[in-house]
Amino acid sequence: MDKPRVCILYTGGTIGMRETPDGYAPAPGYLSAQMQALPEFQHPALPDYDIQEFEPLLDSANMTPQDWLKIARAVQAVYTRYDGFVVLHGTDTMAYTASALAFLLEGLGKPVILTGSQIPVGRVRSDAVDNLVTALLIASSYPIPEVCLYFGGKLMRGCRATKVNASDMEAFASPNYPLLGEAGIRIRLHWAAVRPRPPLETPLLVREISHCSVGALRLTPGLSARAVDAYLSAGFQGVVLETYGGGTGPDRDTALIQALHDAAQAGLVLVAVTQCLVGGVDLSGYASSSALARAGVVSGHDMTTEAALAKLYYLLGRGESVEEARRLASHNLRGELTPMTIE
Ligand code: ASP
Repeated sequence: MDKPRVCILYTGGTIGMRETPDGYAPAPGYLSAQMQALPEFQHPALPDYDIQEFEPLLDSANMTPQDWLKIARAVQAVYTRYDGFVVLHGTDTMAYTASALAFLLEGLGKPVILTGSQIPVGRVRSDAVDNLVTALLIASSYPIPEVCLYFGGKLMRGCRATKVNASDMEAFASPNYPLLGEAGIRIRLHWAAVRPRPPLETPLLVREISHCSVGALRLTPGLSARAVDAYLSAGFQGVVLETYGGGTGPDRDTALIQALHDAAQAGLVLVAVTQCLVGGVDLSGYASSSALARAGVVSGHDMTTEAALAKLYYLLGRGESVEEARRLASHNLRGELTPMTIE
């Protein structure tokens, strides 16, 4: 029987970086050379794999929505030739890219697994081998029809993951959704948490996404209405509003609420998420949250900021009307949210 085949799309990140006088930076060809030298990557238990190295390789701090689209198109270009895909990516913005790919890859029926490492592949104690080898095994052996993020033993839904630790090997968490799997001595998939497969032969669709401007604004005590107004007037089509707790904001600051109202009236799509790591927003829970709803802010429920931001790029970039973008922002499209209501 033929071995399964996996395509590795190498976009950059610490995993393939080398030391430079300015600190770690990606080096073309370095990761492939290291992989050829390491016996773990020649093991017969691994699937056959090809590596597609992106140009330029990026520290993920430089990733833009155009790069998300470039990755989605790269998956689409070879979609029928492989059983699964591993996207090697820097950890800093991996959760944004994982979220964006979940929206961009419509009709996805094969695993797309993002991973990377905290320590470069050539360094002692690197987590690169475990993360990449396990991602390759999952992508080739388990027909998960989802964009996932694998890191430090945990398999997460991509649009639920968030980077929670800048120094530990377990850098990511999925605070509002169960893990899709875990890799200990055995790899265990939690199939009940995995999304259903689309019908066989469903083609992978990656739409044209036009340029749009999306931002995120964190409410903080003392934030002035003037600053909010200036930010919201900076040319955005969508803004993720990071509210307090269950979706509250300073409703006694009528000028600030007015600034939100004016922006919404002018057609800005404002989506509320919570600053808390766990849980989500219910804009009917408090007087200080219903004021936001009256101003025209819609609920992002328990979406991460990363998922909400990527979703706005996707909805607005594909040309949804303001009303439809607001409606869909609050609706579950890829398993990115669970509607919240406080009893
Ligand atoms: N700065 C790196 C990046 O995100 C960090 C990493 O990969 O861990 O590309």
